[in-house]
Formats: sequence, C-alpha cells, structure tokens
Amino acid sequence: MSAPFPPAMASDRPPRIALLSRVLDMRYLAPAFQALRPDIEWRTADDLGDPARIDAAVCWLPPAGLLGTLPNLRLIQSIGAGVDHIYADPAVPRQVPVCRVSEAGMSAGMSSYVAWAVINHHRHFPDYVRNCAAGIWRESPIVPPSEHRVAIAGLGRLGLAAASALAALGYRVSGWSRTPKPGLPPGITGHHGADGLPALLAEADTLVCLLPLTDETRGFLGAATFAQLPRGAHVVNAGRGEHLDADALLAALDSGQLAYATLDATPREPLPPGHALWRRRDVLVTPHIATRTPAAAIARQTLENLRTVLEGRRPDTCADADLGY
Ligand code: NDP
Repeated sequence: MSAPFPPAMASDRPPRIALLSRVLDMRYLAPAFQALRPDIEWRTADDLGDPARIDAAVCWLPPAGLLGTLPNLRLIQSIGAGVDHIYADPAVPRQVPVCRVSEAGMSAGMSSYVAWAVINHHRHFPDYVRNCAAGIWRESPIVPPSEHRVAIAGLGRLGLAAASALAALGYRVSGWSRTPKPGLPPGITGHHGADGLPALLAEADTLVCLLPLTDETRGFLGAATFAQLPRGAHVVNAGRGEHLDADALLAALDSGQLAYATLDATPREPLPPGHALWRRRDVLVTPHIATRTPAAAIARQTLENLRTVLEGRRPDTCADADLGY
C-alpha cells in the first residue's frame, strides 16, 4: 500500500502550481494533479494570477525570464529526466531547488529504445525491412552480441539501466561517467572523466549518448569523438539535440568513418522537412520518443518534492546548479 495522499503541506492552503512551457500545452497535467489533490490550484503562463501565490513551477522549456518573477517559488520541477531546458534561462533563481523526474518506467522505456537501436543496426534489420518489401530472401552477416561492443556515454539512471539491459542480452558493454562508478553490475566496464574517454571510444562499435546537456557535454557527438571511434561505428543519440554536431555527423557518414546513426534527438526539433538528416539510408531519425514521463509520476513527484522542500529538506531528485544536471 502506498502512503496516503494528499501530503501534509506546511501551509494550510492548497498549493498553487504553475504549469509552464513555451512549446507544450501543459494543461494535460492538470487532471493528474487533481487526482492526487482535488483542491489544488493550477495556473498557466497566460493566466498566472498573483505571481506571489505560486508555490511550484512544473516546467518544460518555460517562458524566458518567467521563473525569475515568482517571489515565493519553492520548487522548480522538470517534467522529464533532464533539467537543461530550465537552466538554459539565466533568470532561474539560484536558491530554488530544481528537480527532475526519476521513475522506473522511464528507465525501462529508455532501455528498450537503446536496445532496439543497437540490435536494429547490429542485426541489419533496416536491410531486412527493405528486402522483405521487395520479396528478397538474403542473409546479412551475423555477429554474436558478445563480439559487438557498446559504449554508453552517461552512466546515470537511464544510462545504467540501458547498459544493464544490453549486458543481459550478451553485448560487451562499457560506460562513461564524470565520477568513478565502483561496483558496476557484472558485464559492464566503467570509464570516467576526460582521461577515460579515449579508452571508451576506442572500444565502441556502437556509441550511445545518454549524457545530460551541460556546457561540458554540448557538441559531444562531434568530429573529435567520431574520429576516435573504430571505423564503421554506429552512433545513437538518445540525449539532447545539442549533443550532436549534424554537419560533423554527415561528414563522418560520407567518409565511412561512421556507418550508421540512430537519432532520437536532433539539433532542431521537429527536424525540418528537407533537412539533410532525412531520407538517408544510413540515418534513422525518431521524433524524441525514446521514453516518456507518465503524468501521474510528474504530479506525484512534484507534490512529494514540494512537501520535502516545505519541511526544510532537499529532495533526492534535485539537480546540482553548479554541474547543470
Ligand atoms: P543522470 O543525471 O542520472 O546521469 C547523467 C550521467 O552523465 C551520469 O553518469 C554523469 O556522471 C554523466 N555525466 C555528466 N556530465 C558528464 C561529463 N562531463 N563527462 C562524463 N560523464 C558525465 O541522467 P539520466 O540518466 O536520468 O538522463 C540522461 C539524459 O537523457 C537526460 O539529461 C536527458 O538529456 C536525456 N533524456 C532523453 C530522453 C529522450 O526521450 N530522448 C528522455 C529522458 C532523458 P556522474 O554519474 O559521475 O555524475
């Protein structure tokens, strides 16, 4: 049995939540909040009411500057695993905790996407799909998973889950993080820091980006990284569009340094019609669908985090403003 809701609030009035995005209609979240706290007051950027009454802001690319105008804001809650879209605004108040959503279903969704991307290329399924449409019975080379090396850049909640799923399928998996990761599950080799990157890249038949977007990781999937991969490698971007230098990717594909790219995140989203990344046989673009956060989880974690903050504690899912993730 889960703990009863609503959570005890430090104040005796219902919380007032602002649902803020400049690209999404965030009203889809209101029923999930109301299911937990029928008395909740929710607002949008167009109908904010008294800014001093807003307790928490639930955000995906919030309108520029708006978070800095809410004097009694106690919590900024991302609706996803990343917080880059919040820290991108210099007006974000530094003293207000910024939290991400962390949920088992998100990790499972990401693991299934990454496993599909790796298997799809490694087992030549794009060829089989084309051959099937043309009625052609033709076998492509079969390399066992134990001989295919997958490197996961970013060994956080999503990256570690994806690494574990691939290791369970028999792939040779390594991962890269900022800090050392002692006690990784069997079958996963860890590398860390700038010094650990060359070894990671040198052993990557497939490189998966699951890094957070920060000043240090922007452009990670660029010419310098591609040049260190084994010739003919596959690159998967399940992080953010700004991790990818599209021109460098196209050049690496054209030169044969890379054989294939699976992109769930692209520098512009939606990727415009006619963009050079469309309609190539060696690039598969998916529309940022690798995983999704259930509305119920966003509402529950927002209210739990708000309660934690009002009790004077720091939620477990708080990002570090200095690190940017
Ligand atoms: P976490 O914050 O849990 O993990 C981030 C990982 O990246 C950590 O292992 C961290 O190292 C590592 N890292 C950060 N900076 C560096 C660096 N400079 N060098 C090396 N390693 C670094 O994030 P999640 O796993 O939850 O999510 C990862 C990203 O996935 C999100 O930020 C988001 O961009 C993306 N995402 C994409 C989705 C999609 O649908 N395509 C959906 C959800 C998220 P350390 O452990 O040492 O801190």
